[in-house]
Amino acid sequence: MADAKIRLCVEHDLAAGNSVPLDRDQANYLFNVMRLGVGAHILLFNSRDGEFLAEVADAGKRRGLLAVLHQTKPLQMPPDLWLLFAPIKKARTDFIVEKAAEMGAARICPVQTEYTNSDRIRQDKLQAHAMEAAEQCGGTYVPEVAGIAKLRSVLETWPEDRRLMFCDEALAGRAPGLAQAKRGKWAILIGPEGGFSDAERAALSKIPQSLPVSLGPRILRADTAAVAALTLWQSKLGDWA
Ligand code: SAH
Repeated sequence: MADAKIRLCVEHDLAAGNSVPLDRDQANYLFNVMRLGVGAHILLFNSRDGEFLAEVADAGKRRGLLAVLHQTKPLQMPPDLWLLFAPIKKARTDFIVEKAAEMGAARICPVQTEYTNSDRIRQDKLQAHAMEAAEQCGGTYVPEVAGIAKLRSVLETWPEDRRLMFCDEALAGRAPGLAQAKRGKWAILIGPEGGFSDAERAALSKIPQSLPVSLGPRILRADTAAVAALTLWQSKLGDWA
């Protein structure tokens, strides 16, 4: 099989000549679901070494071994962009994490706001979604999904050198507000379905790094707003610009 299409994120170091053992889930996926056999080619990455072509050296029902052949892509880091969002319903939260990984966020941070619909997340499941998205979109880096934190405490210790694109539904209809923005370390903040409280707005207005931004004339659902904000930022300040 000359053109390898399946991409797998692994934990092992990748370099020509290395062997990568497969766990039960990976072996099941490659050999039972995708029906690959010994000699088949797949692509591997691990967020550190770039992408490598590998060949199936051993294919069992519950285990397997891959032989790493050569590098096919260098590591391409996304821009230094965090996405802060208030978790919503499970399927929509999954969507936000998947899209953030595809769109090139470096870190995904669920935050609990006053009107957050749900204050529980499955961090491990969300991390797996981010990994699957990176596998599917050709990325060589999987963004880290942080544990949920309270927005108020996140803002209290906000890093001095990181700007915050505060997507403020109260500005709907105005110009986006990114015209003067400069490249560098950034974060995007998307609120929950209930929007931001007055106290949160007051806290955000006290942070000099915070830049209130509009996402157009309509009020978007939080999942749509996340994709729109990532698009806007990437096209103005990120790696599409
Ligand atoms: N219930 C709120 C809307 C919340 S929309 C209301 O009716 O006012 C969810 C989040 O998406 C908002 O908190 C904001 O971060 C973002 N958002 C949606 N539409 C937006 C817009 N036009 N401009 C800026 N941010 C927007």
